[in-house]
Amino acid sequence: MIDCAAFVADVHRRKVTHEAGHAVAAVARGGRVIRFEVPFDDFSAGVEVVGQPLVTHASDPLDQSFITYAGLWATARWMVEREADVDDMRDAMDCAMADHSAGAASDVAKLLTAGVDATAPPAGWDAELERLWPRIVAVADHFFTHGQLDHAGIASILPRSLV
Ligand SMILES: [Zn+2]
Repeated sequence: MIDCAAFVADVHRRKVTHEAGHAVAAVARGGRVIRFEVPFDDFSAGVEVVGQPLVTHASDPLDQSFITYAGLWATARWMVEREADVDDMRDAMDCAMADHSAGAASDVAKLLTAGVDATAPPAGWDAELERLWPRIVAVADHFFTHGQLDHAGIASILPRSLV
């Protein structure tokens, strides 16, 4: 088990990537992103503070768990790609889950309620998200470049076959 607390740098980009995971998964499954907001960092107190992200989408109820899982997966995938000391997706997923397990509205709680164990997702989910990963990165980059993101912006980044 790795020390999750050691990997807290660049909180804002990690959170944007997490939310981009939700958003890209929603659009890839035919849903529509209504709102995508991840408040910028506040370094004024010498501590990196990130406001509460707000991402809403209209999607098929049958896709909700996949879309929820996609955020956790994107956080873990980002850690594996970015952190030299993290090369195991399972360890990274443990950290992502620890980061999103507080409260009944958390991703982990929502998955549990739906009967999905994030450490053992349904077959095909990880492979689908791995295919979407370059798009998730591109959507996060788009948000950083333009300071905003909407459904059209996400759809323009996904291949036509996915939208
Ligand atoms: Zn989430």
